[in-house]
Amino acid sequence: MKHYICPKCRGYLSVDNEIIFITKTNNHDTAMVLLSAELGNYEFRKNSNVNFEPGDHVNFICPLCYENLNAEDVDQNLAKVIMVEEDGTEVNVLFSKIVGEKCTYSIHEKGIKAFGDDADKYISKL
Ligand SMILES: [Zn+2]
Repeated sequence: MKHYICPKCRGYLSVDNEIIFITKTNNHDTAMVLLSAELGNYEFRKNSNVNFEPGDHVNFICPLCYENLNAEDVDQNLAKVIMVEEDGTEVNVLFSKIVGEKCTYSIHEKGIKAFGDDADKYISKL
């Protein structure tokens, strides 16, 4: 099974097939959000009282060290986690922080894999 770890504290963020984050929207709403660990799957779970509107900018924060997981070196609209493959290989995974924007990138030594309908949006920055 693959695992996901925080790039700042290297704590485990995933439980089975979900990755757990603290989120804060630009409206200062805070909530725990569970993203699918499957690259290119944009289903997620959250409290039903929390409303995400398309286009909202969501900050993803590590629940273990409270660091913002911004991939600001690439684009302020992307967040970054580390995927640990079954053989121990570590892969940087970037995904959009914008609600409704579907793009995920896994950055391997051999190259970049892009997922999602909006994958073209940031690919030139990687
Ligand atoms: Zn952390």
